[in-house]
Amino acid sequence: MLNVKCEEHLETVKKFAEETGVLEQFNNTLEYLSTYGTNTECELFYDFAPHSFYFVMYHKEKGITLKNFECSHCKWTEQSEIKPDVCPQCGGNSVRIIGCTHKIEPKKFWFNGGMIFHINKWSVHT
Ligand SMILES: [Zn+2]
Repeated sequence: MLNVKCEEHLETVKKFAEETGVLEQFNNTLEYLSTYGTNTECELFYDFAPHSFYFVMYHKEKGITLKNFECSHCKWTEQSEIKPDVCPQCGGNSVRIIGCTHKIEPKKFWFNGGMIFHINKWSVHT
């Protein structure tokens, strides 16, 4: 996924690519960044190098559901994704779900780099 943080710059470079007959190579390079890895987000920024971009690659945020467990026997409680087979405190099988919480894990920085223009083509540098 591509998250463009420099719409105007992107339009300008796209126009430049079109005018100089290298739009396909430009699009392919953008496509490469936007589909890089699995479950990723690429933030695209302006770069001072001519017709170039700076980018940051993230692993996307994901939603998880945490369940609240309670042992009705000894009152042990815990929040986790998976229900324990037996109560870790009393060893009994009286653990039940008493609620759940949806949590979003924020996206995590993976790496950064540049989509640099040089002699009629763009290449990705990290
Ligand atoms: Zn217990």
